[in-house]
Amino acid sequence: MAREAYNPYTNVINTIKSAASVLGLEESDYAATMYPERELKVSFPVRMDNGTVKMFEGYRIQHSSSRGPCKGGIRFHQNVDENEVKALAAWMTFKCAVVGIPYGGAKGGVKVNPDELSCAELQRLTRRYTAMIAPLIGPEQDIPAPDVNTNGEVMGWIMDTYSMLKGHAVPGVVTGKPIDIGGSLGRGDATGRGVAIITREIMNKMNMDMKTSSVTIQGMGNVGSITAKYLSKMGMKVIAVSDVSCGIYNPKGLNIPKILDYLKTHGNLLKNYKDEGITYISNEELLELKTDVLIPAALENQITEDNANKINASLIVEAANGPTTSQADRILEERGITLIPDILANAGGVVVSYFEWAQNLQSLFWDEEEVNNRLSHVMVSAFNTVFNFQDEHKITYRNAAYCVALKKLVEAKKIRGIFP
Ligand code: GLU
Repeated sequence: MAREAYNPYTNVINTIKSAASVLGLEESDYAATMYPERELKVSFPVRMDNGTVKMFEGYRIQHSSSRGPCKGGIRFHQNVDENEVKALAAWMTFKCAVVGIPYGGAKGGVKVNPDELSCAELQRLTRRYTAMIAPLIGPEQDIPAPDVNTNGEVMGWIMDTYSMLKGHAVPGVVTGKPIDIGGSLGRGDATGRGVAIITREIMNKMNMDMKTSSVTIQGMGNVGSITAKYLSKMGMKVIAVSDVSCGIYNPKGLNIPKILDYLKTHGNLLKNYKDEGITYISNEELLELKTDVLIPAALENQITEDNANKINASLIVEAANGPTTSQADRILEERGITLIPDILANAGGVVVSYFEWAQNLQSLFWDEEEVNNRLSHVMVSAFNTVFNFQDEHKITYRNAAYCVALKKLVEAKKIRGIFP
């Protein structure tokens, strides 16, 4: 039988409903969390280097502003669509709530393969997209940040475009900016650093020794590569990593510093990387490797009902957003595989985004140590809250993290009441 096309927003609804049932909520209490507050779809032309004009489509979706301004990244990817951006926006709301930072959630995306554009074309696309979503964004209402295929340079263009439209510099309109225009120290490493902190905390609770455990990482972009860097520094053996170009495996452990250097000088792709003892593997093979810890750090929908039975890890830490479907979640739970959900595991990025925004609003500048200490404090305390909740209720960590977040969202809505 043909399977229904995968819709990540269905995952979101399932997860919210299952948290609501643990909390014993009436549907009217939490119904608002199942709908995005505002959705903007834009279509816009971009002049290509050869003089032709190409049309592009993009979105900015605000899921919730109950707990504060909407917050969330912008991705450039050929598969961006409305349901994906809706799901990503909702995950941001729950992520900010679970770690207790004063934001709601949003996400943006442009349907484009950035590898097919020149740097000048990408800049024109970014500036025009920013102008199209400008009515929605701003330091007090909705603050974008980097996500898949966007980075500090792109954030700089967004900041500049928005500032030109306003007539004055507005650094607080985006986070993840280069340091010279108001970015925060520590923001670049923050998501991966946070994933490593959460991995350390859960392994400690599970009595797993980092020094004798292996880890497999899918995705070597900003999140996966930094996660690999910190986990290998903490003594873990990284046995396999992959990206869109290929996967590499060495059961004795990969040389992570060497791989990170290679990525810097080879267009951030693993393709053609060579070292003693490595074998090339596919992304599918990588997910099914025998490993102590598996970290999906690429895109959504990687662990599904098709491969959940073949996962050969004791612990999964979700560094990507939405890598596991609801059906796979159930299979993993039955199989006794512990899973730390995305909204907790990868929250380090938005936590330091919050620090960046707070510094911008006050025109202050924190040193890196202060940023990292504060990040660690927020991550460890959110982890402990979720850990205690799951321990008390004997549910999955995903369910527990959503319960912790949903409680805060429902409370915020109740306090604010309904307008008018
Ligand atoms: N795109 C990142 C995420 O999914 C960071 C968002 C932000 O910093 O606003 O969490």
